[in-house]
Amino acid sequence: MSVLVVGSIALDTVKTPIEEHADLLGGSASYAAVGASFFSPVQMVGVVGEDFPTAHVDYFKSRQIDLEGLQIVPGKTFRWSGEYMWDLNTRETRSVDLNVFEHFEPKLPASYRTTPYVLLANIGPNLQSHVLDQMDKAKFVIADTMDLWIKIANADLIALLKRVDMIILNDSEARQLTGETNLIKAGAAIRAMGPRFVAVKKGEHGCLLFGEHKFFSCPAYPLEDIHDPTGAGDTFAGGLTGWLAAQDPAEVHFEVLRKAVVHGSVLASFNVEKFSLERMRTLTQEDIAQRYEMFRIMSHFEAIE
Ligand code: AMP
Repeated sequence: MSVLVVGSIALDTVKTPIEEHADLLGGSASYAAVGASFFSPVQMVGVVGEDFPTAHVDYFKSRQIDLEGLQIVPGKTFRWSGEYMWDLNTRETRSVDLNVFEHFEPKLPASYRTTPYVLLANIGPNLQSHVLDQMDKAKFVIADTMDLWIKIANADLIALLKRVDMIILNDSEARQLTGETNLIKAGAAIRAMGPRFVAVKKGEHGCLLFGEHKFFSCPAYPLEDIHDPTGAGDTFAGGLTGWLAAQDPAEVHFEVLRKAVVHGSVLASFNVEKFSLERMRTLTQEDIAQRYEMFRIMSHFEAIE
């Protein structure tokens, strides 16, 4: 089954304590669409300017991503720049140039309106809702968000939460959204706002999945060599949704989402090994299967006899 992905497509400048690279392919939709493409056909909705390198468009095509929903308009592509502190966990945004993103209005081609799995990658919640307005009833809708929208578009985000099956956010955002310091309480409070499932990402410490009276803690892969954490969350969301769409269960239940969350974590763990989407270019199905197995072995333990 196909996945529709909407989000930002960007040219990023990223600085870590060791390296700095400019004009990298980035954006929430880029990471999410490429992540999902390892498992399912993907349709991508986004906007870029005329300066967007053809090589990046060709890369999306090489991943079999359908680009009928990609708008190429006069002006410059959205640009974002961020700097990581020594722990590679804390990040500061250095600059944001919205450019063509400022007037972006997602328009769904007719062939996208019945796509069963929808990933609303990180963009303003009003735009995410606008995508849902154009869809016939999707089978499963997942949304990602960020601290900015909790702060400046809270009412839009609360309205969106009533329309999605699953929300993905990080631990500090879950606390910010609910006012709860405890993540278990925060997960329950977010479920009460609408989504049946909540995934709370904890960066290098993995992720928590909440369902009705159900809880799963997915570990993070113990990587020694992280080069660029940018897009880990988006790749996680893409891998999760793509794998879920490939299974296409009659009903999406907690047990299948546990495995989907691990697949998202596997993809994210590869993505941070190199800058931008570089690691995705050489990633194979065998790499994915091997790391999934490592995750499984790592988190398994025996009952007391
Ligand atoms: P993450 O590391 O998961 O937070 O995602 C980083 C990506 O999000 C970068 O490639 C940026 O281009 C993109 N990004 C940064 N700010 C925004 C924003 N306000 N809206 C949409 N995408 C953004």
